[in-house]
Amino acid sequence: NLYNMVQDLKGNIRVYCRIRPSFVAEAINVIDFVGEDGSLVLLDPSKPHKDGRKVFNFNRVFGPTATQDEVFKDTQPLIRSVMDGYNVCIFAYGQTGSGKTHTMSGPSCGTTKDMGINYLALNDLFQISNGRKDIITYDIHVQMVEIYNEQVRDLLAEDSSIVKLEIRSCTSDSGLSLPDATMHSVKSTTDVLNIMKLGEVNRVVSSTAVNNRSSRSHSVLTVHVHGKDASGGKLRSCLHLVDLAGSERVDKSEVTGERLKEAQYINKSLSCLGDVITALAQKNSHIPYRNSKLTLLLQDSLGGHAKTLMFAHVSPEEDSFGETVSTLKFAQRVS
Ligand code: ADP
Ligand code: MG
Repeated sequence: NLYNMVQDLKGNIRVYCRIRPSFVAEAINVIDFVGEDGSLVLLDPSKPHKDGRKVFNFNRVFGPTATQDEVFKDTQPLIRSVMDGYNVCIFAYGQTGSGKTHTMSGPSCGTTKDMGINYLALNDLFQISNGRKDIITYDIHVQMVEIYNEQVRDLLAEDSSIVKLEIRSCTSDSGLSLPDATMHSVKSTTDVLNIMKLGEVNRVVSSTAVNNRSSRSHSVLTVHVHGKDASGGKLRSCLHLVDLAGSERVDKSEVTGERLKEAQYINKSLSCLGDVITALAQKNSHIPYRNSKLTLLLQDSLGGHAKTLMFAHVSPEEDSFGETVSTLKFAQRVS
């Protein structure tokens, strides 16, 4: 169909926008309309009604009332393609507090209510694996790392504070870009919940040193899928689920030292990600993967036959207007 054709032309990159509910009942809402066709209208509160309207278009827009299941439903075909051998990357982009972790992980660990894409995706992969067990035997493994100040840290290691990981090129023996990161076999959603809990604990442990560090690092959950059929045919693919660092700009005049360094690393890696996705969408011959750890790590799964989905998260409140504009512009640029 036409939709798929358009996607093919764009090199399998799609962008969804998700607007989180407002937490302040009387707040002015800067997002006026959410269209079924993937468009939304942003209202500039400082301008007269007509001049302040700007339309943005995406592959889909999820309004504040969209449920986790509705969001997952639209992501499911992409996730399922991993079981057919496609590499897939899913990113959550947006300012801190806009709902990235809600989309990817869910409200918090310890409950299976309102679970996010990470859990629902693995649950789905297990179901597909089960449904095909007479034809293909699947093995599913996961790794989970954090990229903070351009250093990669293993979130599933016994002592995650020490390990700084090297990224290998995709031509390495194992075919893995992070051969030294702890790899856990997962066979059930219970395994997945345990892994997610361990990753979350390891992420939080280090945040005592630098306050709320998790919003300033990228977390990458990688699902490795190996399939084998009776005639010896093999399939290998991976799914990267990425909760990006907060995209908010910090005022350089107000921050110094460690915080400024963090901010510069985040700005650099997010703009590198934007550059890579834009270059892929434009089918440029040079794709600048090497400019950041994140794009280097995901190199195998960005471009080629791989499929990419970016969730652009925005907050509806007036005081987030500036960040909302920059998120929508970033997302529009890569879509
Ligand atoms: P981020 O990871 O981008 O910093 P969070 O996912 O932590 O943002 O979201 C901030 C707060 O808003 C959390 O308390 C989260 O539970 C809530 N939230 C975010 N998106 C939604 C949503 N779609 N529905 C309900 N609550 C949400
Ligand atoms: Mg978060």
